[in-house]
Amino acid sequence: MENDVLVIGGGLAGWRAAEAAVQAGASVALVANGAGNSPEIHALNVPVGPGDSVDLFIADTLRSGRGACDRALVETLCRESVALADEFPWDRGPDGSLDLLQPVGCSVPRCVSIGHHIGAWALAKLKRDLAGKVEVVRGRIVTLRAEDGVFHAEFDSHAENAENAERSHSLRFTLHSSLVAKTAVLATGGWCGKYAFSDNPPELRGDGIALARSLGAAVRDRDAVQYEPTVALAPAAVRGIPVITTMLHEGATFRNALGEEFLPDRHANKDELSRAILAEIAAGRGVDGGVWFDATGVPADVLRTRYADTVRRYAAAGVDVTREPMLVAPAPHTSLGGVVIDARCRVLRPDGSPVPGLFAAGEVTGGVHGLNRIGGNAGTEVLVFGRIAGREAACASCRRSAP
Ligand SMILES: Cc1cc2nc3c(=O)[nH]c(=O)nc-3n(C[C@H](O)[C@H](O)[C@H](O)COP(=O)(O)OP(=O)(O)OC[C@H]3O[C@@H](n4cnc5c(N)ncnc54)[C@H](O)[C@@H]3O)c2cc1C
Repeated sequence: MENDVLVIGGGLAGWRAAEAAVQAGASVALVANGAGNSPEIHALNVPVGPGDSVDLFIADTLRSGRGACDRALVETLCRESVALADEFPWDRGPDGSLDLLQPVGCSVPRCVSIGHHIGAWALAKLKRDLAGKVEVVRGRIVTLRAEDGVFHAEFDSHAENAENAERSHSLRFTLHSSLVAKTAVLATGGWCGKYAFSDNPPELRGDGIALARSLGAAVRDRDAVQYEPTVALAPAAVRGIPVITTMLHEGATFRNALGEEFLPDRHANKDELSRAILAEIAAGRGVDGGVWFDATGVPADVLRTRYADTVRRYAAAGVDVTREPMLVAPAPHTSLGGVVIDARCRVLRPDGSPVPGLFAAGEVTGGVHGLNRIGGNAGTEVLVFGRIAGREAACASCRRSAP
């Protein structure tokens, strides 16, 4: 059966696109071979706290992007993010104000969450709301062809990621060998799952970029990767799990093998923090290929409430992070480059013209974060651009049906 919209990717960008397309009256199929990075999103940026504004959010994002952001995408991200403040039941303090964290790269506290698990929370809600309204298909798309005004998507017959898919979805899946749709939304995430030491699942290997290129799309910043400065190296039970850098604004610091503090600047960006850590290791002051992330300066009650997951996870591995430092190293975390889109999420060719019927959102795209992403901006990106992509794809499918 031919659908109006085919969404490739089952992370937040994909589900958000599916939601918007269904709301616009389109028939939607969503394909995924795993849950991607989205369930890991702790918090995301919404510029509604004291002293904050859309303009400050734009300025922070452009500055952090090291001159390589697409300004139109950044403006869309920051302006559209304001509506998220009223869309979700965000965590609030006793006085009713939003409980805001300050990510590295933000001038003011801006990160909101729901129990520090907004990614998993939003995915669960979208799947509940869309149950029975979206055809969910399990598998890995390896070919996407455009023929006679429709897209044909073909699956990897080896289904090598079926195990991941089983683990990450509780929905019932339909099995197919190919799918046909009037329009397609690429929401396949990034490629950091390819690296040996990364906090991404292995299914994230940049498939969407290959699919887009096969249809003539332009790709930008192909070697741009955001390293997360503080990914756990040991003990084995926590290896590969990032420790949240917002702790740096609450008293945490870095220490080398000599116990010396070397935090470059509490307001440093993720790229500067990673460079400082790597420089320390290169100078022979590292510890087993990493450095210490010392959160003992963060009040224990703050650690136990705001960072309960970290405290619990390390405690289960025999480390009391209120008293002992954590061994961390930078690891590939987010793909910054990707498919070129405009602010309507239309996928563009190298000459700037859109590939008819093809849209993209989320980590598969490039340009939103430039060469350095502010913590929390990816969560905002997937909700904002996922919605735009779904809405635009639904509209385009109507035009493609018109006689
Ligand atoms: C540990 C961790 C913590 C993070 N925490 C935060 C945070 O707190 N705040 C923040 O802003 N950002 C955070 N990020 C970044 C953020 O998680 C991602 O940038 C974001 O989730 C990307 O969403 P997405 O929907 O674009 O892709 P993903 O969520 O990665 O989803 C991609 C989807 O595409 C599917 N897929 C891929 N290829 C194919 C194919 N060929 N066929 C079919 N399906 C395919 C995948 O299986 C998956 O379903 C974190 C990242 C990590 C790794």
